[in-house]
Amino acid sequence: PPPKGCKQENQHIQVAVRLRPINSTERKQSSYSVVDGNAEKKEVTVKERLGVNPTTKTFNFDHVFPQDVKQQQVYKSIVSPIIDEVLDGYNCTIFAYGQTGTGKTFTMEGERSDDPNMSWEDDPLTGVIPRALANIFDQLQAQAVEFSVRVSFLELYNEELFDLLGSSIDPLRLKIYEDSTRKGSVIIQGLEEIVVKSKDEVRSHSVFTVTIHTKENTMEGEELLKTGKLHLVDLAGSENIGRSGAVDKRAREAGNINQSLLTLGRVITALVEHAPHVPYRESKLTRILQDSLGGRTKTSIIATISPASVNLEEYNEEIDNAMHVK
Ligand code: ADP
Ligand code: MG
Repeated sequence: PPPKGCKQENQHIQVAVRLRPINSTERKQSSYSVVDGNAEKKEVTVKERLGVNPTTKTFNFDHVFPQDVKQQQVYKSIVSPIIDEVLDGYNCTIFAYGQTGTGKTFTMEGERSDDPNMSWEDDPLTGVIPRALANIFDQLQAQAVEFSVRVSFLELYNEELFDLLGSSIDPLRLKIYEDSTRKGSVIIQGLEEIVVKSKDEVRSHSVFTVTIHTKENTMEGEELLKTGKLHLVDLAGSENIGRSGAVDKRAREAGNINQSLLTLGRVITALVEHAPHVPYRESKLTRILQDSLGGRTKTSIIATISPASVNLEEYNEEIDNAMHVK
């Protein structure tokens, strides 16, 4: 189900919905599509009651990407404007949020086409992260500025941090420190480089961060320094958390509560409602993202959904569970 709040009347936090096509597994379960997206009206319609008198519910968002929308279009609408902000010296975050199997990793990392001769630059399946990096370098190289670009890729699993670019095969455990020299920013000790595979994609978050420093000489002969940061986050599956933010009873019994995902929801709600207290410190994820959520930052949430009717049942069950735990 789409996250609550739907269309945000907020320039700083935008919510987009991306629908993936129904897949062969869902078709085999005699599942059919119960969700329609309308890009122009920025609307998602869900068939709630099936049968002779079906009822539908409509939700509005800042962007809606129906089944056939390509990676390139998602990039252009959501990511490209954010890159401009980052190059201008601001901190921004883009999240992929949704149930497991709905297209979060497809959106953020992308996939490779079967054609072995196709480069990743030309591959239509290339996702947000490689496109963003290519775009950042293209723009920086076209400007008359000195620059440095740093990246890190970390995984958060069970409130522990692991370095996905670390040089050891065993992912290192990392520690977060507050940066005493820069208020509100954090340092992650021991973060380095090289690829290792994710341990548990369902319950873990992955955070890809690009930090850009630029130095340019102004017409007045002054040095202008800018630092911008972009976090690209593939969140843990949202299936245990209902629309009210309540946790699935079974998940709670099994100890499967994802503290970071829960806290992120609360932080975003607090920011949207301009609450006096924003609970950044209550999870690792929100501590890491603290300097890139709220204030003068821009945040985009890409909520990925499957249109299949099997999920409608799950969705109703999820609401049921949410009622129970209240
Ligand atoms: P998640 O990361 O949310 O668990 P994945 O990104 O792994 O989900 O996607 C699950 C499956 O659906 C993959 O096989 C992927 O190729 C496919 N898929 C997801 N989104 C799309 C899309 N927009 N178009 C085509 N296939 C998609
Ligand atoms: Mg995934």
